[in-house]
Amino acid sequence: MKKIVILTLISFFFYACNIKKEPNPTEFSHKKAKKEQIENFGIVIHGGAGTILKENMSDSLEAAYKQILEIAIKKGYEILENGGTSLEAIAKTINVMENSPLFNAGKGAVFTHEGTNELDASVMDGSNLDAGAVSGVKKIKNPIDLAIKVMTNSPHVMLSGKGAEQFALEQGFEFMDPSYFYTESRFQSLQKIKDAEKNTSTLDAKSAFVDPYIKDYKFGTVGAAALDKHGNLAAGTSTGGMTNKKWNRIGDAPIIGAGTYANNATCAVSSTGWGEFFIRAVVAHDISALMEYKGLSLKDAAKEVIQKKVPALGGDGGIIAIDKDGNMVMEFNTEGMYRASMNAKGELVIAIYKD
Ligand code: ASP
Repeated sequence: MKKIVILTLISFFFYACNIKKEPNPTEFSHKKAKKEQIENFGIVIHGGAGTILKENMSDSLEAAYKQILEIAIKKGYEILENGGTSLEAIAKTINVMENSPLFNAGKGAVFTHEGTNELDASVMDGSNLDAGAVSGVKKIKNPIDLAIKVMTNSPHVMLSGKGAEQFALEQGFEFMDPSYFYTESRFQSLQKIKDAEKNTSTLDAKSAFVDPYIKDYKFGTVGAAALDKHGNLAAGTSTGGMTNKKWNRIGDAPIIGAGTYANNATCAVSSTGWGEFFIRAVVAHDISALMEYKGLSLKDAAKEVIQKKVPALGGDGGIIAIDKDGNMVMEFNTEGMYRASMNAKGELVIAIYKD
């Protein structure tokens, strides 16, 4: 009898060990998914959408745009590759474009009707849905950095004008002289629009912003969206807005849900285009919502909003976005969009025109 009990105990022991060793399919796939997510990082950026045509572009200008796009995206990519956060990656990438006079953000911002530069920016952290934004600031070199400070160091989401600059001062930001933001070509664009305005009594809403020389009303807002090795998404956008804007007009760029959105459950998006329509179509959040509530892929959601919803209202522009699995899109309904993407394999895409 004693022998039987001992034998039963021994066989039960081996049985129990076996159960433990048996791989649990759910646990296995969970671990695998986690590993894949960690390896799946990437960054995608834009430098504005509009009537960007090859025939209007010199070879040297095209090369200059591509060079800055490459420097900007590699800056963020390096941060991600070294295990940095998506938030840091998008900020540093956007800084490169804000500091370049080629883009309508920071230095190189377009002029208001009054001949000033009023800058807007926003940022969103997909890991906790935290967000920060500034609008109508005139002295801040890198408005995206101030938007981040609003998110991290204030109880608010959006600050504007003088109050935003008072906050910047308290946060130790350096103030730039307005001349820092001046670029001759942007100033000439304003003069051309104002001349056209004087000579036409029937300017419609759109032509009031259209530079008759480049036949467009916007160019060069910058934005970035990234997924880091920790599985966190972030997006940010920075702009000077639209040439000839009046009455402290604010576009979509600083508006969370319109110009910028990020949610770890879906995607991170940055918009560029005719801001009034992007606000009305709530573009960035709409793409995320189509994924979250309707189960659309990022690609289909972006197409739905940029190729159908925005044009149906009469607007144009584009977005760049990355989803929680590292899929990236660069969708636009204009002639071109300055854009670049870089995935975990280090594959770099830089493009300007519609192909
Ligand atoms: N969306 C920006 C605005 O309306 C302009 C742009 O993206 O070019 O202010």
